[in-house]
Amino acid sequence: MADFNTHVFSAAVLASVGAAVCTKVFNLPPETALLLSAAGVLGGVLPDIDLKYSVPSKALFSAIAVFICLTWLLANIARYSVLELSVATAAIYCFFRYPIWALFHQFTVHRGALHSLAALLMFGLISAVVGFHWMGLSEALSWLLALFVSMGFALHLILDEIYSVDFMGARIKRSFGTALKVIDSERLPASCVILFISLVAWFWTPDADSVLELGRNVQPDWKTVLLPHYLLKP
Ligand SMILES: [Zn+2]
Repeated sequence: MADFNTHVFSAAVLASVGAAVCTKVFNLPPETALLLSAAGVLGGVLPDIDLKYSVPSKALFSAIAVFICLTWLLANIARYSVLELSVATAAIYCFFRYPIWALFHQFTVHRGALHSLAALLMFGLISAVVGFHWMGLSEALSWLLALFVSMGFALHLILDEIYSVDFMGARIKRSFGTALKVIDSERLPASCVILFISLVAWFWTPDADSVLELGRNVQPDWKTVLLPHYLLKP
């Protein structure tokens, strides 16, 4: 399998280029590029969240905990005092980083059901729901967020599969076929839970037709925002 640094680097390259293109072509605010890049990197390390005691698992649970803390803090900053905000934020962080992390690893196996295309669908839909309902993004931007998380996730699965082929020795390692699978057929109950969560998340997602709004925002001269002007001149 590809290592953590390879996953982060590859996802960062793909997501930042993709985010720059979307921001320019769809005429989105510049901070959107940062958000979409972060979403792509998150998707790029998400499949290894089930690797207990690994950098991705600890870092992801810390990042998710910080993300939940920050969004809760921003949503409630006017309502509570600084002391209340600090105590509640610390409690939320510890809850997600320790008991939820330990509970999660009780039920997961590395390269199991979470390392599949079904999980990609689930995390993509959850991203759209979180973006719309929790982060207060527009419907179209929530779907774009989901697309970037899914894109990073797909890149991770593809990279793991590529790394399971030993090109120098021209042989296939035993892990081949375990990274990129539609569902985990060896753990069907876990796969069913993932599909069920995806179905529930689908009902909470914003209107999918909103993505068409992005099409209306496309820069009429989109070529000029992607390429330097001296390359476009005849
Ligand atoms: Zn992996």
